[in-house]
Amino acid sequence: MKQEAGGKDVVIIGGGIIGCAIANQLATHGFKVAVLEKGELGQEASSAAAGMLAPFAEAAHSVPKALADLFEASHAMYSDFVAGLEAETGIQIGHQRNGSLLLATDYQEAKMLAGLLERQLAAGTTIESLTCGELTRLQPGLSPEVQSALFFREDQHINNRRLVKALVTSAVARGVTFLTGTPALEVVVEGTKVRAIRTPMEEIACHTAINCAGAWSGNIGPVPPAVRPIRGQIVELQLRPQFLQHLVHAAGCYVVPWPDGRTLVGSTMENVGYCKTVTAGGILDLLSAAARVIPKLKSATLQQTWAGLRPDTSDNLPILGRTRIANYIMATGHFRNGILLTPLTAELISKLVISEKASLPQLAPFSPERFEAGFADRTQSAGNAPGALTRS
Ligand SMILES: Cc1cc2nc3c(=O)[nH]c(=O)nc-3n(C[C@H](O)[C@H](O)[C@H](O)COP(=O)(O)OP(=O)(O)OC[C@H]3O[C@@H](n4cnc5c(N)ncnc54)[C@H](O)[C@@H]3O)c2cc1C
Repeated sequence: MKQEAGGKDVVIIGGGIIGCAIANQLATHGFKVAVLEKGELGQEASSAAAGMLAPFAEAAHSVPKALADLFEASHAMYSDFVAGLEAETGIQIGHQRNGSLLLATDYQEAKMLAGLLERQLAAGTTIESLTCGELTRLQPGLSPEVQSALFFREDQHINNRRLVKALVTSAVARGVTFLTGTPALEVVVEGTKVRAIRTPMEEIACHTAINCAGAWSGNIGPVPPAVRPIRGQIVELQLRPQFLQHLVHAAGCYVVPWPDGRTLVGSTMENVGYCKTVTAGGILDLLSAAARVIPKLKSATLQQTWAGLRPDTSDNLPILGRTRIANYIMATGHFRNGILLTPLTAELISKLVISEKASLPQLAPFSPERFEAGFADRTQSAGNAPGALTRS
């Protein structure tokens, strides 16, 4: 099963939440794991995220069934996942089950919510359609312009930055090596297998390599560049007192209340390459959309703004599983839901490594193979033997 490869059993490229969670899980099974991170751990999308664990509110975005099933399975794992990490590390991660409100302020939006209600009830989801009175009692301080509202009681929230910290703390205790400031420059393929990962300092030999490089995943290694960055901007406000008790989703924004009064308003979806600039237009749009449904936000204190890059794919589905180079695995493309999908991704990818199976049934719809056929043809016709398919 597990082999000592002279270097590490498993080298993980990317120290975001996905890479850290997989490293931690593999270490519990006795694997020797190294995580290569070009900057600081969790510094990219995993810090930028708003921390919503909201599979039911995400359903408003017409998610394919295979992905919706992943959302629900991962969501169901969260309480135990967090409780285990908190007990082990002593870090309070800040996990809340506060539910999501979906609000409509005009006829079109109300029609959309009515369609969503019908679909979700048919699918057996616990969802409530609220009268005006019920909405006011559940969440005071909303605009009288709100015409209709749905409530998904099961949606949750997490402090994603603390979660990364807890994962790293746990993984370090289990012997995982984290190499920060260490970019993976090349996935070195010999014959039909990855032999090592090249960094500026050394080549690290490995039995298995896992690409968890988020929005940069397509820039490394012998697979097609199927991942693209989608910028998301966020505004942090301070509301005193914090009167919001639930996640709020409305046209053009979501609003995430934290118990300490911090309130996040997110997020734009922009295809602008590797650019993390915060723009006046982005912030204006977010605050206008949020103040339309929660007018009191106008008196909140503006604390800070930031932007992060979501790892997206052309079909908006994650890329999970072995590539045609069998010991090179992808765990990326989590787009808007990487925090939500973390426990399940860590479990399934670890199972794949431990079992040494070619795939797992749950991973089939997300296989990297869907992007590889054309790429293999192109590289072969360009005269590259498989062993030469390395890119810096
Ligand atoms: C504004 C915003 C809000 C979001 N809100 C939510 C939310 O509420 N709920 C939710 O579930 N999801 C949310 N997401 C999505 C979520 O943040 C991502 O899906 C998730 O963080 C992806 O994790 P990751 O580890 O794959 O990527 P990242 O966190 O981006 O980590 C990838 C890491 O790889 C490193 N790396 C890249 N190239 C190399 C290399 N060559 N060598 C070494 N290291 C490398 C990077 O430096 C980075 O640290 C949000 C995203 C954004 C931007």
